[in-house]
Amino acid sequence: MRRIAHLDMDAFYASVELLRYPQLKGLPVVIGGGRRREDDMLARLRQVHPDYAWSDNNLDEIPLDFFPRISGYTGRGVITTATYAARKFGVGSAMGVMKAAKLCPDAILLPVDFDQYRHYSQRFKALITEIAPLMENRGVDEVFIDFTHVPGGQREGGRVLARLIQKAIFDDTGLTCSVGVAPNKLLAKMASEFNKPNGISIVTEDDLVNLIWPLPCRKVNGIGPKAEAKLATHDIHTIGDLAQRERMWLIENFGKSYGAWLHEASHGQDARPIETESEPVSISRETTFERDLHAVHDREALSAIFTRLCAQVAADLQRKGYVGKTIGIKLRYDTFQSVTRDQTLADHTHNAQQIREAGGQCLKRVDLQRRLRLLGVRVGSLMKLEDWQAQGLSAQETPIQPYTASLFGDEPPQT
Ligand SMILES: [Mg+2]
Repeated sequence: MRRIAHLDMDAFYASVELLRYPQLKGLPVVIGGGRRREDDMLARLRQVHPDYAWSDNNLDEIPLDFFPRISGYTGRGVITTATYAARKFGVGSAMGVMKAAKLCPDAILLPVDFDQYRHYSQRFKALITEIAPLMENRGVDEVFIDFTHVPGGQREGGRVLARLIQKAIFDDTGLTCSVGVAPNKLLAKMASEFNKPNGISIVTEDDLVNLIWPLPCRKVNGIGPKAEAKLATHDIHTIGDLAQRERMWLIENFGKSYGAWLHEASHGQDARPIETESEPVSISRETTFERDLHAVHDREALSAIFTRLCAQVAADLQRKGYVGKTIGIKLRYDTFQSVTRDQTLADHTHNAQQIREAGGQCLKRVDLQRRLRLLGVRVGSLMKLEDWQAQGLSAQETPIQPYTASLFGDEPPQT
């Protein structure tokens, strides 16, 4: 019997911040509004309490009144995560920080520290794959896991294994998660919401009518606000309402593939496999020239090739849904000797101009007096685009600078 688990970390970003500041446990805390600058908090602490030796080791001693309150926030930032204490006030993810301030002015506002969340993300995922190797990444804080053939994966419908994984994650990180185990990904994803936080839900095919059909259509991953609104015009509000409609009627009204999918989903059917495809470490493009090129004499040709490679890598990143932070170049000389250089940006990017600009900086650090036979551009330190966007940073906060510097020898114009 197929048993698929969906594991979702509870209020992940906020929970990671509570590991750093345990004195905030039980308080309304929201994460968002901006990015954490290294030692920002410590710098302010040293100003206010100069006689105390503040460091990363005594952050738990920061007095509560020192933490910034949401009420003082003015800006257009968005909340990425709220603790359960804050959710009681109606504050939630994707809400504007200023709107949240009206609902819960005393909430503590902490900036986003994605490096820290990513660290814990890798840690909890490593713990899972030690126990159950077939895991599919769904983002920084959730995964699907195939329990079917894992020893003990069928016991109590998957509850025993789910409990074991929960315990392994909590013992190692201090973080809690919620797990839903079901016959497929579609139902597992819904089930993990049933007992949040720190819960386990077991769903079998027999539970379809009692547990799934009463839920609003929106709970199906794949039915968004638009489809929900259109379904509502046909008086379809719950998954059960949807299941009552004929497959042909759904196809006529929602198209061949989406209509058929709606029918299957409403009956709890989903054959999608767990996709364990490992994530790429880097994305790169390189080209070997038809004839060796010289950095000075063939500057225009090289510059055009370099620009094209950067555009191709940027397009690859965008198509595959990644952004990267480390931009690298690779050269091979006519002697077949290769050199690489890289540069790490302040923020991730999938922008061709930014990649070209950073690559151009790298080119200044190699010998360009020799003939070249190969040129390559590589973007590493990848992050899923959706995770990057989930940091809640508006485009305004990560301005894209127009490209000005020229390549292969010229200095950028002074501004
Ligand atoms: Mg979560």
